[in-house]
Amino acid sequence: MRTCKKCGEVKELEKFPIIGRRTVEKPYRMYTCRLCHNKAVRDGFTPEKHKRYRNNRDINKIRSHVRKWRKNHRAHLYQYDKKRKNEKIKIEDGIFITRNALKERKRREKLVDAIVKKDLKDRGFHKEDITPELIECKRAHIKLKRELKNER
Ligand SMILES: [Zn+2]
Repeated sequence: MRTCKKCGEVKELEKFPIIGRRTVEKPYRMYTCRLCHNKAVRDGFTPEKHKRYRNNRDINKIRSHVRKWRKNHRAHLYQYDKKRKNEKIKIEDGIFITRNALKERKRREKLVDAIVKKDLKDRGFHKEDITPELIECKRAHIKLKRELKNER
């Protein structure tokens, strides 16, 4: 026996629609009786819709809570960010660098456009003369140099 959430009547389990089965013997049934459920579906309120609505509501609740918390803990967050910035990460045995330094290292490794551009500028190229083709060329050049260095 189960009490319907909608009408509050106590009914046989069979009167509640099955919405899932974990095992054949143990189907998972709704907490709304078939009559109420049918009525709800007729009114265009399917369980999926209800679920989506409930999830969205929960997400919005959490978001607003987080927003409020951040607002009330600004000083704390600022300290946290500062700490995080100065925190050293281990990259190799005995080598620790900051998060920012690690980011810069990755940029160098990947040879992003800005890095190649800076290299060209340092070698006396003017900003106007630096074309995408030139960057591509320089990137290949740097890669080749790195490979040669590794072979030695
Ligand atoms: Zn009912």
